[in-house]
Amino acid sequence: MVPEKKLFQAPYSPYLVKDERKFAVASAPTEPPSDTQNSATYGKGLKKITKDLQVLQPILYAQGRYAVLVIFQAMDAAGKDSTVRAVMTGINPAGCDVYSFKKPSGRELAHDYLWRTYRCLPERGYIGIFNRSYYEEVLVVRVHPELLAHQNLPPHDNLDALWQERFESICNMEKHLALNGTVILKFWLNVSKTEQKKRLLRRLNRKDKHWKWSFSDLQEREFWQDYMAAYEEMVNKTSRPWAPWYVVPADNKPFMRYCVAGVIRDTLQSLNLEYPAVDESMGKHLVKARKQLLAR
Ligand code: ATP
Ligand code: MG
Repeated sequence: MVPEKKLFQAPYSPYLVKDERKFAVASAPTEPPSDTQNSATYGKGLKKITKDLQVLQPILYAQGRYAVLVIFQAMDAAGKDSTVRAVMTGINPAGCDVYSFKKPSGRELAHDYLWRTYRCLPERGYIGIFNRSYYEEVLVVRVHPELLAHQNLPPHDNLDALWQERFESICNMEKHLALNGTVILKFWLNVSKTEQKKRLLRRLNRKDKHWKWSFSDLQEREFWQDYMAAYEEMVNKTSRPWAPWYVVPADNKPFMRYCVAGVIRDTLQSLNLEYPAVDESMGKHLVKARKQLLAR
C-alpha cells in the first residue's frame, strides 16, 4: 500500500466530499449558504483569486513537476463553460489546455473508454481542464445503458458489476496519475432542476443563445432522478483525498465560480511551488553572459 501522506491532499472547502462514502445528493445544497454575501463581493473575491493564479501558474510551469487536471461534470446549463472561462482568466493560455468531451466518435468507441481522455491529460507544468470527462461513462451511459451497445464490449450479464468495475478502473487510474505527479480536482456543479429550467428558458428566449440549444436538454430533464442517483454513487465511489470531488452549489453563478477558483488557487499554493534553482556553474555562466551582453 502506498502511504497516503505521499500523495496530494485536497484543500479544505465546505463542498469537499471526504472519502467517507456517505455523500447524499439530498443533503447537497444547490444554493449558497443563507448568510451569503452579494454577487459583487464574490466578483471581487474572484478577481483577487485570479491575481493569485497569475503568480502561481508561471511557477507551476517553470518547475515542470506537477500537472493539474481539473474536471467539470454537471447537468446541462449548470455553467461549466462560464466557470472554465472565469478560472482561465487568471491563467496563461500557453500553459493550459481545455478539452470538451461530447458523444464519442467511431474511432473513440473502438478503444476502451479511458483512451480518448488519457491522451488529453496535461503534461507536467500544465493545467488541463476537462469539460465533461470519462465520468460520462458512469453518468449518461449509466442512465442510458443502451449506449453500451455502441461500445461492443466483451459479453457481460450483470450491468451493476460493470459500473462497479468502471469505478475501480477510474480510481486505479487516478491513483496512478496522482503517484506520478498529476494533481486531480473534480467539480460537480450542482444545479437544481428549477434553476436549470430558468436557464434553459433563457436559452430559448435569447437569439444569441439558440445555437446552444439541444433537443437532449429537454429529454434529459425527464431522467433527473436517475442522473442524481448516478452522480451520488459516482461521488461516493470515486472521491479520494488525492482525487477529490467538490460538489459546488451552482444556482448562484458568481458564488460557484468563486468557490471553484478558490480551490484551484489553494491547491497550487499547497504544492509549495518554486522556480527551479540554478546551480553554481549555471550561476557563473549567467554572470558571464550578462557581462558579454552588456559589452555588445
Ligand atoms: P452545454 O452545457 O453548453 O450544453 P455540453 O457539455 O452539454 O454543453 P453538448 O454538445 O450540449 O455540450 O453535449 C455533449 C453531450 O455529449 C452531452 O449530452 C453528454 O452527455 C454527451 N457525452 C459526453 N460523453 C459521452 C459518452 N462517453 N457517451 C455518451 N455521451 C456522451
Ligand atoms: Mg448540452
